[in-house]
Amino acid sequence: MTARIIDGTALARHLRQDIATRVDALSAQGVIPGLAVILVGDDAASAVYVGRKVKACDAVGIRSFTERYPAAIDTGTLLARIAALNADPTVHGILVQLPLPGHIDMPSVLETISIDKDVDGFHLYNIGALVTGNTVFSPCTPYGVVKLLESEGIDLKGQNVVVVGASNIVGKPTALMLMAEGATVSICHIHTRDLAQYTIMADILVVAAGVPGLIVPQMVKRGAVVIDVGINRLADGRIVGDVDFAGVCTRAAAITPVPGGVGPLTVTMLLENTVVSAERALTAMAVDA
Ligand code: NAD
Repeated sequence: MTARIIDGTALARHLRQDIATRVDALSAQGVIPGLAVILVGDDAASAVYVGRKVKACDAVGIRSFTERYPAAIDTGTLLARIAALNADPTVHGILVQLPLPGHIDMPSVLETISIDKDVDGFHLYNIGALVTGNTVFSPCTPYGVVKLLESEGIDLKGQNVVVVGASNIVGKPTALMLMAEGATVSICHIHTRDLAQYTIMADILVVAAGVPGLIVPQMVKRGAVVIDVGINRLADGRIVGDVDFAGVCTRAAAITPVPGGVGPLTVTMLLENTVVSAERALTAMAVDA
């Protein structure tokens, strides 16, 4: 068996065309979607991620701007700035690039962002709503995983899904979103005994551990769909996921590559959430008028 490659770059391109069309429609009605990005400190990887998001916004016509603050900024100053952005009607999305320096009260920062502008989906309300339903915004990477599976025409009802990784921003929300689609979900993490015992059962295996080569072919059921969320830079500079891609290709029915799989979708879902926020703002303006 040679797995079909799930092309995240092509799907992202397709979705971004639709987003650009909706931005044009909003602009024609006087609303230009706006995204504020807050970058604290000088973490090189964070700067790269922010740069990609800003570029992606430009390409679809979303007005984005980055506010950079020194690592020494205090929590209060940051909260005051977020409050000002909450009140700014030209800003439809607020994104605080993580991680934040250790002295900053991250939960307070995330919970100060207005739920209506929480386009990263990290506010406690949005996380809680993943359990009960009715999220205002879904977190971008898990949302991207759902979109990739949707694009493959996979009906998640009754499927055995195994998610490897249980972080608050990827593993747990992904598991909740797939469960909401009717899948039977197991979540594995660093303390899981005998990881292979779980992964081998998966019709759909989602891996988000940050460990290159964690998933080898004998851990994968023949015909499974494998979504590799991991992004790891090797000593030789290569970027790889968490899955032994070449090996697992011989067992899986379909697999996402790294790069070119989940990554482009993560940024795309941020654009989607920002445009949805602007569309909601326009509707609210029409109701008020
Ligand atoms: P994290 O470090 O916060 O969480 C890792 C999770 O994996 C933890 O729950 C941990 O228990 C589990 N884990 C670690 N080693 C394991 C092992 N040997 N066996 C089983 N479970 C193990 O990381 P994160 O923020 O969730 O990110 C995970 C990976 O996804 C990273 O490589 C990150 O770079 C990548 N990522 C990619 C995107 C994207 O857009 N593609 C977005 C966010 C994160």
